Amino acid sequence: MTHGRDEHVWIPESDLDGMSVDTLAVRAGQIRTGQLEHSDAIFPTSSFVYGSAAQAAARFGGEEPGNIYSRFTNPTVQAFEARIAAMEGGEKAVATASGMAAILSTCMALLQSGDHVVCSRGVFGTTNVLFQKYMARFGVTTSFVDLTDMAAWRAATNANTRMLFLETPSNPLCEVADLETLSDLARETEALLVVDNCFCTPVLQRPLEFGADIVIHSATKYLDGQGRCVGGVVVGPASYLDEIYGFIRSAGPTLSPFNAWVFQKGLETLPIRMRAHCDNALELARWLEQQEAVERVYYSGLESHPQHALAKKQQSGFGGVLSFALRGGREQAWALIDATRMISITANLGDVKTTITHPATTTHGRLPPEDKARAGITENLIRLSVGIEAIDDLKADLARGFQALRAQTS
Ligand SMILES: *Cc1c(COP(=O)(O)O)cnc(C)c1O
Repeated sequence: MTHGRDEHVWIPESDLDGMSVDTLAVRAGQIRTGQLEHSDAIFPTSSFVYGSAAQAAARFGGEEPGNIYSRFTNPTVQAFEARIAAMEGGEKAVATASGMAAILSTCMALLQSGDHVVCSRGVFGTTNVLFQKYMARFGVTTSFVDLTDMAAWRAATNANTRMLFLETPSNPLCEVADLETLSDLARETEALLVVDNCFCTPVLQRPLEFGADIVIHSATKYLDGQGRCVGGVVVGPASYLDEIYGFIRSAGPTLSPFNAWVFQKGLETLPIRMRAHCDNALELARWLEQQEAVERVYYSGLESHPQHALAKKQQSGFGGVLSFALRGGREQAWALIDATRMISITANLGDVKTTITHPATTTHGRLPPEDKARAGITENLIRLSVGIEAIDDLKADLARGFQALRAQTS
């Protein structure tokens, strides 16, 4: 009789209770094979074999747990699901082929024709299209409201409202939703509060602790963090997640084992990356506020942000995304962007590399002018997804932009 550890798990589930998110990011949800590898194994296989016909029958009949087919059972995907569930403090997680597949699967599994959704106006553009165009075709209607206007959320609900959907902080203006107030409203109306936690990740904000029912991620962003793979995940109680799992199994928007493995490795460095993103973003926000050419900086870490106190209550950091408005219009914004040399001009975010975007002509370019104005997407607005490069190099690159603006006016 040895007194060693169980060889096939890193840490028993019960030992994970009460561990910090930093530890869970590295230790939760690993399955060790007979090879006793230290790093997570990857299982790029579509199907699994059985010891006998009887065992195959028992697996298919659900009498024996175990792997069947990678559309709905793959150990690499399950390891990623277990880790992100532990980090969000949720009972279960289901991984999906993309962030959009996570949102779609949640809707398909938990809504039906005749249901009504209230959604914040500032959500990711494609989320908006999904609700407005595609869900509507199947009889699910959506009302859009301002994220921070609690009276508008309440006024938009009706007897058929089954879901409140939002992102906080918002993109690109960093507005913050009051999750506890919205959770109360969800209880009252018997609707689900669904939070897309892409911008904060569980390192900075765990919406389930504030009364959210379901958390959604585009793993493509910070969970990967190095711009390699597309994927998503839904986290929450088993009662809802079993339904979503059933949908994935039947409809097939499954995460590939390779992508799951990349995300699993990404999670290991997520806590230190998020802190580096936050430190750089706060420093840059303060520096931008001092620039002559800057009219206003939008970042919830600044004391000048109208919801700084709420952000402080809900989040343990203010995130890596910030926006700023220049004095001037599109011409000035484009000139600044074009004068940078290191920062990547792309609409992606959540990467270790800093990216710069002109929302009015890219991410929010398809919005009708009145919606753009309403969402505060002005022509002079620039969004940064602040990476983890040295802060002085980031300032130096942006300083080239400010230099170009001064040259323009002199
Ligand atoms: C990118 C993004 C999505 C969609 O995720 P994909 O992985 O691109 O499908 C959803 N929500 C937010 C907030 C995002 O930034």
